[in-house]
Amino acid sequence: MKVHFLGTAAFEGIPSMFCLCETCKQARQLGGPDIRTRTSVMIDDELKIDFPPDTFYHSLREGLDMDSVRDILLTHSHSDHLYPEDMVIRAEGYASYGEHTIHVYGHDLPIRHISTLLSPEKHKFKLHAVRPFEPVLTQTASVVPLLAEHNKQESCLLYYIEKGGKTVFYGHDSGWFPEATWDWLVGKKLDMAILECTTGHAERCDDHMNVEDTLRTAQWLLANKIMKPGGRIIVTHFSHNANLLHDELKEIFEPHGMTVAYDGMIVEL
Ligand SMILES: [Zn+2]
Ligand SMILES: [Zn+2]
Ligand SMILES: [Zn+2]
Repeated sequence: MKVHFLGTAAFEGIPSMFCLCETCKQARQLGGPDIRTRTSVMIDDELKIDFPPDTFYHSLREGLDMDSVRDILLTHSHSDHLYPEDMVIRAEGYASYGEHTIHVYGHDLPIRHISTLLSPEKHKFKLHAVRPFEPVLTQTASVVPLLAEHNKQESCLLYYIEKGGKTVFYGHDSGWFPEATWDWLVGKKLDMAILECTTGHAERCDDHMNVEDTLRTAQWLLANKIMKPGGRIIVTHFSHNANLLHDELKEIFEPHGMTVAYDGMIVEL
């Protein structure tokens, strides 16, 4: 399985467009892994998680053929994860695209949002409203949506993905997970867990994880033997407000055997 990290930042990206903070200034100077676009992951060039506004840029930077995508899993409707206006481009006059239908999975709110923009006659997307803990067989994987703790206005999702004998837990955006999600994970065996660390050393909050939460989550996964031997724990979705550059994040997480994601990183499982 090829896991391709297309973007690794929270809402604003790093450097944040209008921001003059030290982290953003240094990121502009350093470039490389300190430049972060809004989060998305692509698996085997055919299963995409989230559709952020940087999707166009991701396709340019990584030389990706977005029409090879068969399934899109949506975590929630925040604009750093879903920019459906660009899905409209897959229509006659804007693109000479493939015969296949792209299937999109998400909870009610993102699906409703997309359906106001796409019409079945013009765009070859099929929308599926999924519910937490109800397994779904997509065109490319066996998937279980799990519940996040992120925004009271919608039931934001995390995903357990099983594909070609490999298993991935896509664990953001979320603060400390709801009890039902921890319970569901018990007994599972993961090749990869993708966690967030949006807020760095800030106080704990309800809707995102800080360093302490991310480390505790990793320790819980290891203590409960949920990570397979050699399983990878990856950290992503960083905000400039955390004031942590890529090297500083590596200093925090690498001693715990965790990997700090950067834009364009590919992990083969
Ligand atoms: Zn986000
Ligand atoms: Zn900044
Ligand atoms: Zn969010």
